[in-house]
Amino acid sequence: MNQKKLLYAGKAKSVYRTDVKDTLIVEFRDDITAFDGGKKDVLMNKGSYNAEVSAFFFDYLNRNGVKTHFVRMLDKNRMVVHKLGMIPLEVIVRNVAAGSIVRNYPFGEGTKLDPPVIVIDFKDDARHDPMLNDDLIIALKLASPAELRKIKKTSLKINSLLYALLAKQGITLVDFKIEFGRRGKAICLGDEISMDSMRLWDKKSGESLDKDVYRFNKGDVMATYNAVTRRIVTKGGRTKVPKKT
Ligand code: C5P
Repeated sequence: MNQKKLLYAGKAKSVYRTDVKDTLIVEFRDDITAFDGGKKDVLMNKGSYNAEVSAFFFDYLNRNGVKTHFVRMLDKNRMVVHKLGMIPLEVIVRNVAAGSIVRNYPFGEGTKLDPPVIVIDFKDDARHDPMLNDDLIIALKLASPAELRKIKKTSLKINSLLYALLAKQGITLVDFKIEFGRRGKAICLGDEISMDSMRLWDKKSGESLDKDVYRFNKGDVMATYNAVTRRIVTKGGRTKVPKKT
């Protein structure tokens, strides 16, 4: 497979065309940003950690009946994916209150959210990703009612699968953001699932193991990404998958 023209460059990933039909290459770069691009850095190896964790989760989800865009890794930073028609929604699933939900609503940080809370934002940088509701999603024709139901159901399934997997590694999945796209009539998980898009807390110490370390200068970001990557992708993480989700 040959990498062709750059199709799109986001804050931390670039997407390239290839010479294979409906197949793209996603490059995970070493750029890291926070606060709507207000804080930016380049951290050596960051891209490879996020790529490794994303590939591991996509493979695990594929094996458990969740359709994703993942095909295979080309090298440490580049992932081969099926081309999707991306839906401009940021689906956030929260198991524990942290981040913007604590700033915007009267939840104490660390409050367990059971059942999990799904929040859907409009992926629109110029408007600073405003929160949507079902009526707005339908009125804006971002997704059909059936697609929206599928997106929410799949998001909760992904949450159950990842929550159980990470719990085995002594990690609490506090929250995460995912994005979906269309492949024919199917709704597939796209984008990434990495330390940049999840909040992970060590079960024992409560320490952050994700981008909050960068956002709030909590310590050595790359040492954290390296250690949590090893913890997640270790063979121990590949133990039996829960049947009921
Ligand atoms: O900032 P907030 O608390 O709303 O973020 C919830 C979760 O979604 C966090 O894990 C954060 O890293 C992720 N997120 C993201 N990209 C965004 C907004 C949030 O990955 N644009």
